[in-house]
Amino acid sequence: MIDPSQGMHGQFDLLIRDGFVAEIASGIDPAGKTVIDALGLLVVPGLIDLHTHLREPGGEHKETVLTGCRAAAAGGYTGITALPNTNPVMDDWRTINYVNMLAEQADLVRVWPVGAVSKGSAGREMAEIGAMVRAGAKAVTDDGRGVIDARLLKNAFLCCKQFGIPLMEHCEEESLARDGQLHEGLVAAKLGLPGIPVSAETVMLARDLLLAEESGGRLHIMHVSTAKAVEMIRQAKEAGLHVTAEVTPHHLLLTEEAVDGFNSLAKMKPPLRTAADVEALRLGLSDGTIDAVATDHAPHTEAEKAGDFQSAPFGIVGLETAFPLLYTHLVMRGLLSLDQLIDRMSCRPATILGVPHGSLKTGYAADLTLIDVTNERVIDRQAFLSKGKNTPFDGWPVFGVPMLTMVAGRVIMRNGTIVAN
Ligand SMILES: [Zn+2]
Repeated sequence: MIDPSQGMHGQFDLLIRDGFVAEIASGIDPAGKTVIDALGLLVVPGLIDLHTHLREPGGEHKETVLTGCRAAAAGGYTGITALPNTNPVMDDWRTINYVNMLAEQADLVRVWPVGAVSKGSAGREMAEIGAMVRAGAKAVTDDGRGVIDARLLKNAFLCCKQFGIPLMEHCEEESLARDGQLHEGLVAAKLGLPGIPVSAETVMLARDLLLAEESGGRLHIMHVSTAKAVEMIRQAKEAGLHVTAEVTPHHLLLTEEAVDGFNSLAKMKPPLRTAADVEALRLGLSDGTIDAVATDHAPHTEAEKAGDFQSAPFGIVGLETAFPLLYTHLVMRGLLSLDQLIDRMSCRPATILGVPHGSLKTGYAADLTLIDVTNERVIDRQAFLSKGKNTPFDGWPVFGVPMLTMVAGRVIMRNGTIVAN
């Protein structure tokens, strides 16, 4: 059992009563209790994803709240966010309520909606942030794009501060990123495609840090992709700013070279960068500059990704591959400890969202994941429970596959199959 929230790392029994953690000890008497034998498996606080695109309402052909929740449970996640770039955009309490209702009907993992910063995420007029927070929104973002209007962003920071939520920013300066298809570097030059420079991320990040500082608002930086941005976040944290950051598994494992040959399964925003950027992101995650791993789970249809490279949409799925990939390529290679990985994928995301999870302390909800670190398996995208099969990791051998996901004491997924409902 590994629970970084209480520095726990060892072999114990865990007693669950009425959906909550009642006791962790050695040799709890099993008489009269339902027993799950987890011998040989890891028991960790359920994984939490800060960055999930569930596509509903409006994109049900790509994913629904139900299929997204199934994919989450299969990937060991007990709680996910629902990002607002839906159709209509989640920019008022009605759409937040609607997604809450869909999540209740799905009745699998926890779903925390994230509202838009601006109406329609159009960047002109602030959305009704207070009403969305009252309806259950845990943060706001215009993800898919950044908030271009600096004054609007500053006012949004002030509003978020009042309601105690983070503003999650997709740092991309549009005039620099415009028409870009991949990282502005060697592969873009070779393929003759317009690139997205490092400055598209860092110019926006610099402005956001200044506005976060001036407003006293809490900035969460989504999907950091460059070494330069890691350094800027490190300095901002040293200066005492209220800033947190996330990185995706693909930015930790792949470089621009994955796009070579016009591979649209490696086309994403921000783009895959260079080996030096990957190195800096890994170091940033390890030293805590980057707080969390988030999937940026972005399901698209096969047809959309199969078309020509330039018209293919950005993004890949991630819920069902994140933990095994990072366990295999960071933990097993000694680049990150197992405790650090659990912290970055469960404890810290819970803290950023301000939800009482990411811990197996007595009294917390029994949200947990059992993981097999002994047996090697191969990622098979056709076996995903997500509607989206768009991943560049198909066929990769991995260890660390989640075997059981439990939410509030109820088993949701066992051996890759959804068993609840
Ligand atoms: Zn984004």
